[in-house]
Amino acid sequence: MPLGKQRDKVVLGLGKARGKPHRYSNWRWAVAIAFTLAIAALPFFGIIRFDLWGGHHHYLGEQLGLVEVARRFAFPFLGVNLAIILVSRFFGRYLCGFVCPYGAVARFAEWLRFRAKTRKDRIIGGALLITTCSVLSAITFSFWLDWRVFSDASAPWKIVASMFLLGMITSFYVFVQKLGLGFCRNWCPSGVYFALLGHDTNNGIEFAHPQNCTDCKACEKACPMDLLPRELSGGKYREGSGFYPDGMSNFALCIRCGDCVSACEGTTARLNVATPLRMGFLPSGARDSAAPEHGELKG
Ligand code: SF4
Ligand code: SF4
Repeated sequence: MPLGKQRDKVVLGLGKARGKPHRYSNWRWAVAIAFTLAIAALPFFGIIRFDLWGGHHHYLGEQLGLVEVARRFAFPFLGVNLAIILVSRFFGRYLCGFVCPYGAVARFAEWLRFRAKTRKDRIIGGALLITTCSVLSAITFSFWLDWRVFSDASAPWKIVASMFLLGMITSFYVFVQKLGLGFCRNWCPSGVYFALLGHDTNNGIEFAHPQNCTDCKACEKACPMDLLPRELSGGKYREGSGFYPDGMSNFALCIRCGDCVSACEGTTARLNVATPLRMGFLPSGARDSAAPEHGELKG
């Protein structure tokens, strides 16, 4: 099981030893924060916002009726989904690895756990995590309800709004603490959708220089999806778990996070050889280099 302390030790331990964040970490945080800010701006500036309590629905800053907002938003919504389909179909699950705010918060929770040495650290870490979950829940809340519901609405509406907000914060915190990236591995419905779209891409992880591999298995311990990164190209297919059906290709399950490459670079850096694993476009034929077999990937 790569999640938990073993993964912390490899991913965060190597990062600490390196003395600076890996380039994939920098990209991940930059993209996830930019994406979250862009999403937060939508309801904040009234670009798209519904108000199921007071009827203050907005589209591009204009207050309109619910049906009119939904009608005008239909084409942009379809456009965004088309872009998601194309990216997932031809590049794989980079959205999971680099964009998803849940994944970013799950990694933040891992980092807090790795840094916490004392009870005080754990309390501060818990408070930081609750604050982060609250901010993301508040952004989601803003899409559906006007915040004036807490001052102007009737008592039943105030109760509904409070339960909605508290329910989101609690579920987010529990999911991040209890499942972490395991949620992405087994339970995220969007992940299944992206995986079905991207089962056969020509972009992902390649075992490019096997002759330089020391068989340290750091890549396997680092993988949040419990895959064998050295065998993604044509390796065994994985037995389903959570929402995933049996027999999905490893390429479909891989979230293109690059943790395996990061771990591999960390363990082979001192050897001064080309890193065995790489992430990016695959040379033609790499996907077919080994015939896939059905069966459980890991025992
Ligand atoms: S194989 Fe590598 S890139 Fe894919 S999920 Fe595992 S660690 Fe991330
Ligand atoms: S981390 Fe790199 S060197 Fe170690 S087993 Fe994986 S591919 Fe080989």
